[in-house]
Amino acid sequence: MDSGMISKIQKAKRYAEEPDRVEIQQMVVHFRGEHDTYEVSFREGTWHCQCAFYQQRGLCSHTMAMERLLAPMALAARPDAADS
Ligand SMILES: [Zn+2]
Repeated sequence: MDSGMISKIQKAKRYAEEPDRVEIQQMVVHFRGEHDTYEVSFREGTWHCQCAFYQQRGLCSHTMAMERLLAPMALAARPDAADS
């Protein structure tokens, strides 16, 4: 393996230990809950879920679990959040 690639791999390992370098802008996941699988997404600074509880309350165990999973990484702020 050439030295250029070796240095990139070393840098990648260091980056992977510094998750605060990453700011998530948007993502979509399939979340296997206990009763069903739901599509959970993050976009424009807000989590969304397809489950019934989220539709009523605006958050749910799936969105809260994703927040905990991704806590080491920054989630992009809502675009209008800078005004408030
Ligand atoms: Zn949900």
